[in-house]
Amino acid sequence: MKNAILCCAGCGEEYGADAWRGLPWVCTLSRADVHRHVLDWPKGRVVEVRLCQSCGQSMARTASAAEVSSPAAPAAPLRTAT
Ligand SMILES: [Zn+2]
Repeated sequence: MKNAILCCAGCGEEYGADAWRGLPWVCTLSRADVHRHVLDWPKGRVVEVRLCQSCGQSMARTASAAEVSSPAAPAAPLRTAT
């Protein structure tokens, strides 16, 4: 998987794939949601919306449905070795 870079339209902040996953999640638009507006939408693609941590503007990117299957779940918590 390539390390996609996303640039905030509001402030120009750039995020790599890992940084993107750490941003506050807003919503994920399913194919059905997008299909109301875009008739020719590829199967298995969704739109993931997150907030820019610099300016708070929402940003969207497309992703595979499998990639964002549990968007509300935070990344696995880091556990410090004892
Ligand atoms: Zn921004």
